[in-house]
Amino acid sequence: MEATALLFMVALSASQGQALQLEVPHLEGLDSVTIEWSERDVPFVRDDDRWFTVIGVDLDTSAGEYPVEVTMTYADGRVVTQPESVEVLGKSFPTTELTVAPGFVQLSPENQERAARESRETGAVYATLTPTAYWTEPFIVPIPGAQGGRNFGHRRIFNGEPRAPHSGADLSASTGTEILASNAGRVVLAKDFFFNGNAVFIDHGLGLYTTYLHLSQILVDVGDFVERGQVVGLAGATGRVTGPHLHWGARILDARVDPFSLLP
Ligand SMILES: [Zn+2]
Repeated sequence: MEATALLFMVALSASQGQALQLEVPHLEGLDSVTIEWSERDVPFVRDDDRWFTVIGVDLDTSAGEYPVEVTMTYADGRVVTQPESVEVLGKSFPTTELTVAPGFVQLSPENQERAARESRETGAVYATLTPTAYWTEPFIVPIPGAQGGRNFGHRRIFNGEPRAPHSGADLSASTGTEILASNAGRVVLAKDFFFNGNAVFIDHGLGLYTTYLHLSQILVDVGDFVERGQVVGLAGATGRVTGPHLHWGARILDARVDPFSLLP
């Protein structure tokens, strides 16, 4: 089998903070496909005559050319390794100044400890690669037709103090608006966090997670399998917010990506 038989159906190029969906056609006898990205072996999943996966370019990844290796293993034991490269394109992110309750900027020792503990907890979730894809259909916006959502990656200054860039898309929503799962998956976190407020984290498989923050109510439990479009909670203004809205986030392993880049 020629290594050149591998044909990507999308260009291997992405902006900072973008998800990159990859596909290769199925070939006779092909048993598994993986891509090495961010020092992880990310599996492809077969769907009839194609194999697909998704990788993420973190919003702070430097622009440039990144070598990647795609490995195809055949049922007869042949292993074909194909070098490829991902071109990361630079993007400029505006700066936003926000005013929130002072306790969310100057943290008490208790809240500092809590925020650190919660950050370790979410970090452990994001580092987990479930080697299957729970989704088969395209991703959807959790509030159909919502306004806003164009502030992913914005550099942020809270009460005059620089903080981490915005790692999601804020959708306009009044308290009580139904929040839909962007796609099928398994609920891995569903509870109150210091910064996130009431939050739901969904594992879609292959290292891809979507998050729904600042909810007034959580309507799912950890371990639940949810369908695309299932109501997972109601919008609210819990955690570090300036008012009610939905923070919709997406991570692919450790990469912070714009959830809108998951849409077809
Ligand atoms: Zn947000």
